[in-house]
Amino acid sequence: MQFKNTLAFAKELDEKDSLRNYRNEFHFPKINGEDAIYFTGNSLGLQPKRAQKFVTAVMEDWANLGVEGHFYAEKPWWDYHERLAAPMAKLLGAKTEEVCVMNTLTVNLHFLLVSFYRPTKKRYKIICEEKAFPSDQYMLDSQVKFHGYDPNAAIVTVAKRAGEHFWRTEDVLAKIDEVGDELALVLIGGVNYYNGQVFDMETITKAGHKVGAFVGWDLAHAAGNIALNLHDWQVDFASWCSYKYINSGPGNASGVYVNEKHLKDDSIPRFEGWWGTKKESRFLMKPTFQSTHTADSWQISNPPILAMAPYLASLELFDEVGMPRLIEKRDLIVSYLEFVLQEIDKEVEEASFEIITPKDRGCQLSVLLHGQGKELFNYLMKNGVITDWREPNVIRLAPAPFYCSYEDMYRFGQILKAGILRQS
Ligand SMILES: *Cc1c(COP(=O)(O)O)cnc(C)c1O
Repeated sequence: MQFKNTLAFAKELDEKDSLRNYRNEFHFPKINGEDAIYFTGNSLGLQPKRAQKFVTAVMEDWANLGVEGHFYAEKPWWDYHERLAAPMAKLLGAKTEEVCVMNTLTVNLHFLLVSFYRPTKKRYKIICEEKAFPSDQYMLDSQVKFHGYDPNAAIVTVAKRAGEHFWRTEDVLAKIDEVGDELALVLIGGVNYYNGQVFDMETITKAGHKVGAFVGWDLAHAAGNIALNLHDWQVDFASWCSYKYINSGPGNASGVYVNEKHLKDDSIPRFEGWWGTKKESRFLMKPTFQSTHTADSWQISNPPILAMAPYLASLELFDEVGMPRLIEKRDLIVSYLEFVLQEIDKEVEEASFEIITPKDRGCQLSVLLHGQGKELFNYLMKNGVITDWREPNVIRLAPAPFYCSYEDMYRFGQILKAGILRQS
């Protein structure tokens, strides 16, 4: 398609967009009395309007039924989380029994490492990407130390090449081969939070297995953004967060995926609690834990229903639309944004910025600003663009296909241009 950087062309794309009505399903923050141009769906997705109804229903059930809501609410609370497993499994490319919605992301990674990081003197190393998300770094460091090993020796990072802004799959594979039979675990962010790169999860998972390691993925920026096939890729385990692309609400619940092949293996250690034991006997208060032989057995506590409610509302939207349609629009709107950025770059005199996201990408373009940084970012925010800033000089733009319009991309370009010209 031949793109044009004009309002008329952007509007034409919007008219042809089969998802355009979904914009009305979301609340938009207002800046200067107008809907903001929202680029931070990769950080906190917008609120689906129907979320309120789901939360209100829980509040009313609680008011009217008290504890009886566990069994007699319209959506009973005792197995409320199970409603989220099937739609979530679709987003992950998993079987429903491989998925349990629970806890928050870093908490889940800790629990999953209880099962999948069991270092021995010989095999104790972990491979992750250089400059992984800080919470993941703290998590890995503290796990290694908990087992009595030295993080400097145990954690092996894969670096980007000098002068490049992305990781090469061959470098990840080479590192896996190099560490070989000392490798206990590969744990990488499936979509990098900083540059928006999508890792080749299938190939890397295969390579990790070949040297006898477990392979898990942090899907914080992947879930609800890219096509996932965790089951077919034979990924051992994964976790995600739902408040980014999945629009479930601030700090909301995460979940775990555990591959089928591990579900019936009772020799895998795990930290356990009453919600992980068999449903039929959960309330018999028996002293011994009985595995459900599903991902539910990693669940520890009874679920926070008020958090699950807006998450379920959002999954209803994902179920209605499906990932293939979202991905189709995502690719077009991101390409259009890229085009708009390139046009603006030509129109302003000096080279003012550079896109550092590689071609293997999902919804996010990371833009490295040259020269002017924070002031330009502040100008954008003041003029109706919500984006975010990452040190030292990067803004991240994620036009979530559920609610962003092509007109937003065009308008953003005009605001960006005015901001650059104002300062030069
Ligand atoms: C957003 C994000 C997190 C957040 O972790 P929480 O436990 O939900 O606070 C963790 N890891 C990555 C890679 C992220 O992008």
